[in-house]
Amino acid sequence: MKQSILDIIYMVGAISFIFGIKMLGNPQKAKKGNLIAAFGMTISIFGTIFLYEGIKTSNYIWIFAALIIGTVVGTMMAKKVKMTGMPQMVSFFNGMGGACAALISLVEFNHLQHNPETTSLSTLAIIYLGLIIGSISFSGSIIAYGKLDEKIKDKTLPLQQVINVGLLLFILVLGGLAAYGIISNPIMIYVVLTLSLLYGILFVMPIGGADMPVVISLLNSFTGVAAAMGGFLYGNMVMLVGGILVGSAGTLLTVVMCKAMNRSLTNVLIGNFGGNKSGGGEAKAMTGSTKEITKTDLAVLMKYSKKVVIVPGYGLAVAQAQHVCHELEQALENEGVEVKYAIHPVAGRMPGHMNVLLAESNVSYDKLIEMDDINPEFKTTDVVLIVGANDVVNPAAKTDPSSPIYGMPILDVEDAAHTVVFKRSMKAGYAGIENELFYSPKNSMLFGDAKKSLTDLVTELKNL
Ligand code: NDP
Repeated sequence: MKQSILDIIYMVGAISFIFGIKMLGNPQKAKKGNLIAAFGMTISIFGTIFLYEGIKTSNYIWIFAALIIGTVVGTMMAKKVKMTGMPQMVSFFNGMGGACAALISLVEFNHLQHNPETTSLSTLAIIYLGLIIGSISFSGSIIAYGKLDEKIKDKTLPLQQVINVGLLLFILVLGGLAAYGIISNPIMIYVVLTLSLLYGILFVMPIGGADMPVVISLLNSFTGVAAAMGGFLYGNMVMLVGGILVGSAGTLLTVVMCKAMNRSLTNVLIGNFGGNKSGGGEAKAMTGSTKEITKTDLAVLMKYSKKVVIVPGYGLAVAQAQHVCHELEQALENEGVEVKYAIHPVAGRMPGHMNVLLAESNVSYDKLIEMDDINPEFKTTDVVLIVGANDVVNPAAKTDPSSPIYGMPILDVEDAAHTVVFKRSMKAGYAGIENELFYSPKNSMLFGDAKKSLTDLVTELKNL
């Protein structure tokens, strides 16, 4: 009876994951989707605790202590995190998922040691795979977290790729031999664990900073696969479905991000783009001069425009200028100006970063126009406001084959009559390269923090 109820709970849990993840694809339904998936996870956890046959009541104290600590720490971290710190947090949480999968393998291996009659090749193979993938995901995600948080710098060893490939093959061979029982010493599981943790570090260490979100997405898919191994091990449907969904979503996202940057996964993993750049080309040095625009002049220019397009970028998130950006949009619309937002797929530091940011300030979703749809519209745009964006509007991606971002699709802002770049200095964006758009005769710079500049502009516009 208990098992039948648990099976139903797992089925509801699995279905809620599928619906939840589907709803995450739509900004209006994303919050609800998240709650539905969280509901599925909650009933699955409590169903397992109270209905699973094997759980000893003496373990409840440990289970609930861990649940309470995890819930408190997770809630505090999620409440405290700034929007710009989200990728780090995702990476950290992902690392915890990988660690859990690796721990499951260790625990189940010890169970097998005490019940050798239940040992089979497939169980051992699943245990070793879960351990290898989970621990690589754990140590790799923690290094990625440290890098994004600027606590750890890129580091490439001599012959790094040879060492990495060699170590991975060695781990797989060792795990295979242990699973087949050719090496039967139980200590082997700890050797494989240590080497996998080391591999996770060596794998992520040399990858350039700008590529970190892609790597996190890849590690996310690893964690999903490692969790699915746990699902196989326990014959647990909800764990299996959850793991497969995370694994496939992570893989799809990795592919989408690589496509948006026009780069192969191999290039991301060994290209050193945006990091120490030893793998990227030397970008062209800039010549010419830039010109500045005053806030009053810009307010006048916008007031007499028909169409203004705002290009949000990472700096908008840093300045937390999304609310005042929405205010400017409303002030312009009151003057009869048409306003749209141009959303580049990799603007900011995580996929959908700009959509989430602007949704926070209640910008209408139909004003957020994706790159392929907005690009033809720039020809009929009077002013483009580039607010804290840099790489995503860098024409070098189209014109300079030696540039590390060459080939990345960009927003064609130079087709508009005027462009205005809001930033604090002439510093480069995340890819670490100069932007020739700043030197274009059609472009003006508006230096300063984006929030302050936008606030002053709204005032200027209202005073005109
Ligand atoms: P960039 O990192 O290229 O540029 C951001 C700009 O914002 C900087 O030039 C900075 O200039 C400016 N800035 C920072 N703080 C402020 C502030 N308070 N006020 C005003 N300006 C500010 O951002 P983009 O969004 O254009 O590009 C994203 C980059 O991240 C791309 O290279 C992309 O490939 C990469 N990336 C993104 C991923 C994603 O999923 N979104 C994934 C992987 C990589 P200054 O310091 O002078 O103010």
